[in-house]
Amino acid sequence: MPIVLVISAPSGTGKSTLVNRLIASERDLEFSVSVTSRPPRGPEVAGRAYRFVSEERFRSMVEEGAFLEWAMVFGNLYGTPKAALEEASRRGCDILLDIDVQGAAQLIEQLPDAVTVFVLPPSRRALEERLRKRSSEKEQEIERRLGEATGEVGRYPAYKYVIVNDDVESTVEALRTILAAERSKREYMAGRIQPILKEFGIDPEEPE
Ligand code: ADP
Ligand code: 5GP
Repeated sequence: MPIVLVISAPSGTGKSTLVNRLIASERDLEFSVSVTSRPPRGPEVAGRAYRFVSEERFRSMVEEGAFLEWAMVFGNLYGTPKAALEEASRRGCDILLDIDVQGAAQLIEQLPDAVTVFVLPPSRRALEERLRKRSSEKEQEIERRLGEATGEVGRYPAYKYVIVNDDVESTVEALRTILAAERSKREYMAGRIQPILKEFGIDPEEPE
């Protein structure tokens, strides 16, 4: 079973920045491209950041059972296609999901072993500055995202790990460390260590 690494954070915390760096530097880790009814923002490229569809198309995908989880976030629909996880798994890759707190709650129900990480901004003020610096949304949208941040931060206890995105480099390093620790778990290592154990005449343990 691949590692399902789930990252959530209030909008503007720096999730996309962290996710892009992690994907660029980690082997065998794929980003799960979500489907959304929101229009592309600035330079976003279809199929890289998101798969952009109409709200009607999104709703029919829900009917077809195409999503592992989906939610309405800031007035738009977002969902993780089941196919993303299946394909990563077939390729022997772990998968990274950038999803909101509602989606993460649904995912934890279905995949309790998912490795969940909540990313906090260093302060509320820093969050506001980052949202404004990105300047990809109108003032009203920035206010809306800030307003929702409190409710999102309140959901942090549902996650296994919490990190503070103070400095990008050290935060990416923390994510790499979490992934490395998960990849060193005995169950995850079973396939790799089997031939080594055999050389010592030791039978691999039965899976639980
Ligand atoms: P999110 O995906 O969480 O909405 P982004 O990755 O778009 O957030 O980041 C929001 C803004 O904050 C961007 O301008 C980004 O360059 C900046 N940013 C991200 N991480 C940091 C950091 N650790 N320190 C300062 N600015 C940051
Ligand atoms: P943005 O519009 O800034 O790209 O994303 C807004 C929010 O939607 C972020 O909190 C992001 O994590 C969340 N999001 C992105 N993709 C998905 C998804 O597939 N499912 C859910 N539930 N949330 C998502």
